[in-house]
Amino acid sequence: MIKKVLVGDEKYKVLIGRNGIFKDFLPNSLARNKKILVISDENIPRKYIELVIKSIPSNKVVNIHKIKPGEESKSFANFQIILNKLAKKKYDRSDCIVAIGGGVVGDLSGFVAASYMRGIDYIQIPTTLLSQVDSSVGGKTAINIESGKNLVGAFKNPKLVLISSTFLRTLPDREFRAGIAEVIKYGLIYNKRIFNIFEKENKLILKRNQRIIEKLIHESVKTKAEIVTEDEKELGIRAILNFGHTYGHAIEAKNNYKNILHGEAVAMGMRMASKMSMLEGHINEAAYKKIINVFDMLGLSKNISNNYSDLKKFIMNDKKVKSGNISLILLEGIGLSFQTQEFNIENFKKSFS
Ligand code: ADP
Ligand code: ZN
Repeated sequence: MIKKVLVGDEKYKVLIGRNGIFKDFLPNSLARNKKILVISDENIPRKYIELVIKSIPSNKVVNIHKIKPGEESKSFANFQIILNKLAKKKYDRSDCIVAIGGGVVGDLSGFVAASYMRGIDYIQIPTTLLSQVDSSVGGKTAINIESGKNLVGAFKNPKLVLISSTFLRTLPDREFRAGIAEVIKYGLIYNKRIFNIFEKENKLILKRNQRIIEKLIHESVKTKAEIVTEDEKELGIRAILNFGHTYGHAIEAKNNYKNILHGEAVAMGMRMASKMSMLEGHINEAAYKKIINVFDMLGLSKNISNNYSDLKKFIMNDKKVKSGNISLILLEGIGLSFQTQEFNIENFKKSFS
């Protein structure tokens, strides 16, 4: 029942299963650690934290640190507070951080683990669909500073990632759909099997059928692992993970990162990038309609106006837009993508509407 994916040159494991996964794998993985700092946020159901702590052998010292939910918690202040807590409690390099939560908890905890004493062990237990399929793979950690989001961080691989699909039962509907958007992304850029599952099983997916969701998580983690393992420092193929994100980041920025979730903005961005792929002649209209249909069926609609003139300045500010050249990820089929800086600017403008 447990599905396993190995990631990167260090070959850390991502294990996908249900709630039994913690007692099966945590004791062994923590064997060399003496103290464990569990980091989570105040919205994560308490039963999940208890379940994880119950699986930690009783000879370990366990401390808990909870942050407030929300992007504002990925702050320099919290980074420092946790580092000081580790120091006061005399944590050293034989100890470990266990992060239980979504991307916010994971990004902050991972950066703490990368920085404290130049790096201590780190286990990630992602609880949102988005963090299970996205930030659990690739080793990127970060916090926000005044000048921008994710501007300070490090590459830090966890020693283990444990994913329980059961945790998704309590995830709010919007968060669930936003996570689904990144799963569709893997289907569009690289793995047609994922896209086919969306076409066939969209009703069961929205009902959060556990068997299908686990399959989607597994396929997504495998896909991302394959892409980042090929390209650990982000020079080439890893760029395709940015599909829909140039548009999406601009939509998020224009909305001041409020009232719109990352996955929702990226879904709108992927609709635009798919349109651009059609306008540039890389995919035909039938393929484009098939793609839009999947977003519609999953309730990922384009419900705010995003015209080119409003978004232009945000596109130029995106940290991935190097020296004024807009680099786009486009599709040349469902499950096949490429990066280009050559495109017709009129088509680009049209792709927003
Ligand atoms: P993301 O992974 O999308 O970046 P966040 O870390 O911002 O997600 O978490 C989104 C919200 O969902 C937070 O309020 C968080 O506490 C809450 N949350 C995370 N996982 C769960 C879960 N399994 N059940 C209920 N709420 C959750
Ligand atoms: Zn994303």
